[in-house]
Amino acid sequence: MSQQTSAPRPLLLRGGRLVDPAANRDETTDLLLRDGVVAAIGQEVTMPDIEEVDVTGLVVCPGFIDAHVHLREPGFEHKETIKTGAEAAAAGGFTSIVTMPNTAPPPDSATRVADLVERYQAGCVRIYPMGTVTGERAGKGLAPLQQMAAAGAVGFSDDGDPVEDESLMRRALQVAAETGIPIAPHEEVKSLTTGGCMHEGDVSRRLGFIGMPGLAEEQMIARDIDLVRETGGPLHILHISTAGTVELVREAKASGLPVTCEVLPHHFLMTHEQVESLGTAAKMSPPLREQADVDAMIAGLKDGTIDTLATDHAPHTAQEKALPFLEAPMGIVGLETAIGHTLTHLLHGGVLDLAAVIDRWSVAPARILHLAGGRLQVGDVADVTLLDLHQTWTVDSSRFHSKSTNTPFDGQSMRGRAVGTIVGGRLVYQI
Ligand SMILES: [Zn+2]
Repeated sequence: MSQQTSAPRPLLLRGGRLVDPAANRDETTDLLLRDGVVAAIGQEVTMPDIEEVDVTGLVVCPGFIDAHVHLREPGFEHKETIKTGAEAAAAGGFTSIVTMPNTAPPPDSATRVADLVERYQAGCVRIYPMGTVTGERAGKGLAPLQQMAAAGAVGFSDDGDPVEDESLMRRALQVAAETGIPIAPHEEVKSLTTGGCMHEGDVSRRLGFIGMPGLAEEQMIARDIDLVRETGGPLHILHISTAGTVELVREAKASGLPVTCEVLPHHFLMTHEQVESLGTAAKMSPPLREQADVDAMIAGLKDGTIDTLATDHAPHTAQEKALPFLEAPMGIVGLETAIGHTLTHLLHGGVLDLAAVIDRWSVAPARILHLAGGRLQVGDVADVTLLDLHQTWTVDSSRFHSKSTNTPFDGQSMRGRAVGTIVGGRLVYQI
């Protein structure tokens, strides 16, 4: 690993496989980054005082964007800070991350959003805040969405909780229709999940736990799709987890509605069966579902129903996760394992080709949230992820840059990883 703080010299990436789906480009060539943007593409680039990196054998692609990250600052710095979270993102191959607003205080006003934007400047990757949909994230009144957007919020969510009040969600989507900035809800009918700690099914019954039925997610999504149909506001559904949800989103897209969605690695990799062996390391919301749901995630990724991949990086301390299953907090970290999982299971597993992997991790989140990046043409922002598609490695949480290590993936073998992260033309992480 190397981290650099001085102003970057022009950086020439020589001999890599440049893959830029937005330009339909996949070729071996050089890429020159200068003054924060792509300055030239081609094999005859030379200039004095240049930093040259031989990237032969590596994929050079638009920087990966994780649009679902919990940084925990302010309020829960014992789990993660802006600094440690940004370092984990860089180490995982992400040039940009988008943060969820369940902090204390939550970003529910223009002032608080502006404060976060200011704090985020210190991160080694680009960090963008989502603002809350409701004041204090309490579900009672609409936050000032237009002013928060002007202050830098790239989306709105009460993540961790749904927006239960239908009238509030309707008004939020009306604003979204005007601004073009999506509402990104955590979809759950709370009255159907009260007391629940895992998926409702034969495993929860065997363990004697109250379950969270897939219906709780699907009913709220069906409601919100109806509201999109009426308001025209863009809806970006966070962390979908059931086969029924994939079908709802597929139908909404077929009707031409502005509905997009994301899936997390654990929802295309794991089932509720694993709660028995992994305990709290497999406790999250939405919960791990059944094999038919996993299969639907794979199918949805393949046919484009699922637009983006994201981690829902949710740091918790070892002490918190050591609590009994019913008391332990929901969530796992993901920034430093997600690209490995994607390459191992989706690329090498034959689910997505490389252009589609880059689309789900870069092109699509940039488009949906109107972020810089997602393409590498002359003049574009110089955010680059370098991938080694074949390097084999083993997850070792003791080496995570994140402050927390709550992962169910320790010891897993991976094939493929991000080996370099370049933000604004500056190499911020290299293996
Ligand atoms: Zn959530």
